Amino acid sequence: MSGIDDLPPLREVIAAHGLSARKSLGQNFLLDLNLTAKIARQAGELTGCDVLEVGPGPGGLTRGLLAEGARRVLAIEKDARCLPALAEIAAAYPGRLEVVHGDALEVDPLAHLRPLIRVVANLPYNVGTELLVRWLTPPAWPPFWDSLTLMFQREVAERIVAQPGSKAYGRLAVLAQWRAEARIVMHLPPGAFIPPPKVSSAVVHLEALPAPRYPADPQVLSRVVAAAFNQRRKMLRAALRGIAPDIEDRLHAAGIAPTERAEQVSLEGFCALARAVAAD
Ligand code: SAM
Repeated sequence: MSGIDDLPPLREVIAAHGLSARKSLGQNFLLDLNLTAKIARQAGELTGCDVLEVGPGPGGLTRGLLAEGARRVLAIEKDARCLPALAEIAAAYPGRLEVVHGDALEVDPLAHLRPLIRVVANLPYNVGTELLVRWLTPPAWPPFWDSLTLMFQREVAERIVAQPGSKAYGRLAVLAQWRAEARIVMHLPPGAFIPPPKVSSAVVHLEALPAPRYPADPQVLSRVVAAAFNQRRKMLRAALRGIAPDIEDRLHAAGIAPTERAEQVSLEGFCALARAVAAD
């Protein structure tokens, strides 16, 4: 017994199934089930929700989500070695855990889950940012998810919640904060994981807003922000030269001095600039 359920402790599960962590798969496992239940609680009340979990590994967070009452969990895992351990969890929670063996970048969660859908995951660092950007830039808004509760390396978490004027402020902050409320809800030291990673980790909770904070065409905003931060040390009139030949006029129209740098421009400023760039 492990405290949150009747399944064996994770250390035993890992030993029984020979789940030595593989760096190539971004494997750093959480072993403390009280901690995984605490992470699950950061996603709010789960009883009326389906949950998408990417990379369940030996299933510590999966067990936390189920013990906290998630209606259903879809767990997508790339490493076949984890499947027998996950099957034992599915058997302990009949009808509530579906495990898909595959790459989370290629699985459509809507083929498996129904709203309300929350995403909760201790993401593999090698695909974590790519998944987040995809979830933040769907073809239509609101997205399939109601909230995202995600563990990242602390430095990535700080980029998501960063404010203008800080080094961490960039494309990820603008994308995340334009259409979601984002905050860091937990910090975890390297020692919480087996094996311990080199850096600390943090859990970010993002709630989808019903509509963007400021109007802007998503594609134009994305293009402007990418160009601005690709050359973040340059003044915007130089960094954005490729966006429009009359970029100085458009910066003025958005109320931004052409001599400013990307780091100083607020979310509202970038949206105004995207509108000015899109205007005839
Ligand atoms: N959730 C577990 C925990 O908290 O202990 C494991 C987290 S570990 C950081 C990341 C997990 O993602 C590993 O189990 C790894 O095999 C899996 N993984 C890596 N790349 C993946 C991908 N593209 N799609 C699905 N799972 C992936």
